[in-house]
Amino acid sequence: MTSSYRINYQLRAHKRDPLIEFIKGLLLTPFILHAKPRKPVLNSPHVGGHESINTILATGTGTSNVNHDDGNDYQEEEKPMVDANLQRYLEIMKSVEVMIEEHRRKAVKGVPEHSRLHRIVPSVATFFTPLPLEAAFLVANAKHSIAARRFVPPSFNDIRRILNTAQVMAIAPTLSLITFDGDMTLYDDGTSFTENSPLIPLLITLMRAGLRVAIVTAAGYPGDASKYEERLMGLLRVFDQQKLSEKLLERFYVLGGECNYLFRCGWKKSDVTGESVVGLTYIHPESYQPSDMLAWKHEEIQELLDVAEENLKRSVSAMNLKAMILRKSRAVGIVPIGGAKIAREQLDECVLSTQQRLLEYQQMSGPSKTAIPFCVFNGGNDVFVDIGNKLIGVQVLQTYLGAAPEATVHVGDQFLSTGNDFATRSSCCTLWIISPEETENVLKELTPLLTIPAEDA
Ligand code: IMP
Ligand code: MG
Repeated sequence: MTSSYRINYQLRAHKRDPLIEFIKGLLLTPFILHAKPRKPVLNSPHVGGHESINTILATGTGTSNVNHDDGNDYQEEEKPMVDANLQRYLEIMKSVEVMIEEHRRKAVKGVPEHSRLHRIVPSVATFFTPLPLEAAFLVANAKHSIAARRFVPPSFNDIRRILNTAQVMAIAPTLSLITFDGDMTLYDDGTSFTENSPLIPLLITLMRAGLRVAIVTAAGYPGDASKYEERLMGLLRVFDQQKLSEKLLERFYVLGGECNYLFRCGWKKSDVTGESVVGLTYIHPESYQPSDMLAWKHEEIQELLDVAEENLKRSVSAMNLKAMILRKSRAVGIVPIGGAKIAREQLDECVLSTQQRLLEYQQMSGPSKTAIPFCVFNGGNDVFVDIGNKLIGVQVLQTYLGAAPEATVHVGDQFLSTGNDFATRSSCCTLWIISPEETENVLKELTPLLTIPAEDA
């Protein structure tokens, strides 16, 4: 079939998340049929966003803090409609929850493609845990009044956040490794971790709860601890000020260049003052990289990067981008010049054309050469081609630290197919956030569900 619908769909696949679109479509039907605008509301309900997951679930409806005073028009006219909407939405979320369970059962039997969910959303990934979507909807409803809305249907972002909450609830009891993307997840693009970041106490809580915490970032500074220390300065300084024990610090890692440069946190002697400070120590690849990774040949890496560089240069000139090429030992990228802003469409064009070019290059190279894994991604205002990817990054950490996929979660902002966090989905659970503020929100949901041993409290 070559209908324009299909062509349009295929060309837009990199801007869509099929599972979220599917759930959004299901919720849209009751919204259109039942959540109709009515007469004006005199006293609108106060719906706050500060209750914990457990409080919301204990009250059952997700609207526990609605004002129920006698004579309130909301109670008389709106509440039955809101409750009916809520019930319909909950029924849908429960149905999707059940479909995910069926998909998981088929996956265990080795035939995920036989599940009903797979037939409807063929690109659906592996679910390493169940997802309590009905309960997560109640939490989201308490914060964003989804069932009370009659002009704005459940949105992409509503559903993305519901999936996050469900994932947090499901994984909290067994979580052992949590990995974070850097830019836009822990700090704004290209900036550094500042001492006053509200994420710092939350990260320390994760470490106290016995979790391994790792930053898995594309930013690649080959073997150079000082560059990563510079970007994480605020965080390391707070670790230092709070005199965290070596035992706690050992739970924190940084993996840079997607999967290429691993560092462990701990106390070390400052090169400048000679005093003991919290810093990062490089871990040599031989002690953690699998043999197939160690076998990547320098010349083959450079050849692949040459092909990528040529294509990136062609894209810059064809689209007249105000950008320069940046070449590193395991990466090549285009970065804007003089604070220029490159349009998302142009960045995606660079990504998709370079992905295509590199796949063709690897197919034409034949079986004599190892196909070195690579990652081409849109970083928001730049494009990078890195050797390796975050899937390998997460897998390397899972093996090194002994964490199973169902006990690992990756938090990141780039989960469309042109983003570099997308690859982690095949090896762990994921939380898709869009800003450091949202990372803070998911951690505020997660940390109360963890147990902190008395000796680390
Ligand atoms: P992440 O979001 O932490 O994975 O970082 C991605 C961003 O890191 C990119 O958008 C770039 O701005 C920046 N970056 C710096 N060096 C590199 C590199 O060597 N490869 C890829 N991205 C890099
Ligand atoms: Mg990012």
